[in-house]
Amino acid sequence: MLSTMQDVPLNVSQILRHGSVIHAASRVITWTESGPRERTFAEVGARATRLAHGLRELGVRGDERVATLMWNNAEHLEAYLAVPSMGAVLHTLNLRLPADQLAYIVNHADDRVIVVDASLLSVLEPLLPAVPGVEHVVVVGGGELGSVRPAVHAYEDLIAGRPDDFDWPELDERTAAAMCYTSGTTGEPKGVVYSHRSVYLHAMQVNMARVLGSGPEDTTLPVVPMFHVNAWGVPHSSFLAGVNLLLPDRFAQPGPLAEMIATVRPTHAAGVPTVWQGLLTAGPGDLSSLRSLVIGGSACPPALIRAFDALGVRVNHAWGMTEMSPLGTVAEPPPGLPAEEEYDYRVTQGRLRVGVQARLVGPDGEILRWDGRSVGELEVRGPWIAAAYYGGTSAEPLRPADRFSPDGWLRTGDIGTITPDGYLTLTDRAKDVIKSGGEWISSMALENLLMDHPAIAEAAVVAVPDDKWGERPLAAVVVAEGAQVTFEELHRFLAERIPRWQLPERWTRIDAVPKTSVGKFDKKVLRRRYATDQLPVTRL
Ligand code: AMP
Repeated sequence: MLSTMQDVPLNVSQILRHGSVIHAASRVITWTESGPRERTFAEVGARATRLAHGLRELGVRGDERVATLMWNNAEHLEAYLAVPSMGAVLHTLNLRLPADQLAYIVNHADDRVIVVDASLLSVLEPLLPAVPGVEHVVVVGGGELGSVRPAVHAYEDLIAGRPDDFDWPELDERTAAAMCYTSGTTGEPKGVVYSHRSVYLHAMQVNMARVLGSGPEDTTLPVVPMFHVNAWGVPHSSFLAGVNLLLPDRFAQPGPLAEMIATVRPTHAAGVPTVWQGLLTAGPGDLSSLRSLVIGGSACPPALIRAFDALGVRVNHAWGMTEMSPLGTVAEPPPGLPAEEEYDYRVTQGRLRVGVQARLVGPDGEILRWDGRSVGELEVRGPWIAAAYYGGTSAEPLRPADRFSPDGWLRTGDIGTITPDGYLTLTDRAKDVIKSGGEWISSMALENLLMDHPAIAEAAVVAVPDDKWGERPLAAVVVAEGAQVTFEELHRFLAERIPRWQLPERWTRIDAVPKTSVGKFDKKVLRRRYATDQLPVTRL
């Protein structure tokens, strides 16, 4: 074997060091009740270092888990950097989960310490009796700490007076850096464990994608919560490249979002479609600073892309999942196309990023062609894609057969097509597929078309049992405020655009599409409501 390069492990501590020295002057701006609060990368780096010392003093050793129950703010970023750098594992908790699920997750992950925003103590406190393994609670911000069972510490006291340097351990890059639980439709939530190597490579890939900010000239606003898949890699990639961050803390509602965008003038932002739809509906204000809006996490309705186009803001549609760190694709059209042709590419889930290998698998396990027509389940592999869930052993990794193929590829549960040049179009989640008389009807395509209608604010289409066809689509629509439309009109609108056999005959009007804890359409709730006769359905 020829001698090659130095085998320097990729560690999160390098991101911390690099960002705080090379990009010392870049800023982390946290939105507060009284406007923006700023800290430089140098300050965030120094405070992260002090936090690592503080956590050591609390007894955090090895790869023990330190959880966060926090909004998007500078302190959360400090934990993002400190915990993995010292060798421990950052476990971001989804603050919107019900208490019993949160308790299950904290216990399952063996969290020893929880760092919590004072404004979230009311979420944590009821949980504490059910999580006996938690020994320390570190509270960020003022307020009554109370005297609950685990030792309670004020964040600022914990880091005060500690050294600004730390002899960061050189860790095997394959060891755990962070973890995040994902709730499937069945069974308990499953933990995905990110390695130092995966975090580092993914952060570089996010930076390379450019759509989330490139360098110190940019400011990125991740509205996506930092408990949702490492906030899509934005915190790490920004720190690595000196991209300024605007963090909305608990103010990610349309009004304050519009105000912080107009005041701080970010160049890039990221979030799920419902966030941006909400901003549009409430009145977006001055968006003139925004060059790119990354929309992902669920299918971005084409109407939303057009609406932002009209405001001069470019939407970049992206696809990924918790098990993928999350970045899989970004919908960048090939260069030099006229706007209307570009648009055909921009509405797809996007083009695979380097490092992400994909294959489409047909119903009988056959590998399908990338011809833009063959529809199958997408399987992926790559250096930032999970090899197993948390909880197994190296001899017996936790790789459920419905999530991992026998040769180790991740089964995404997403159904779609890929073109010869790597553009992915999803038609459904496997669990949401509508199978009518043996033919698939794409719920996503129907939803996108319905949301193209000016009177429709939101639309969700689910499969419901049908005596004749097995399953048929039920269209649940939310009519935009002040608008009026009949089901017949919507039916006609669809009939001009899709084959007759795909037209829903069952319609229902709802006040809002139910959402999951990260703001995605929650179709299982709609299916349940239908099954228990809680939806008034009109048949055309
Ligand atoms: P999660 O791990 O909770 O973020 O969920 C991942 C799933 O969200 C994916 O497997 C997709 O089903 C869905 N998803 C994410 N991004 C998109 C997108 N751009 N279009 C359609 N579905 C998406």
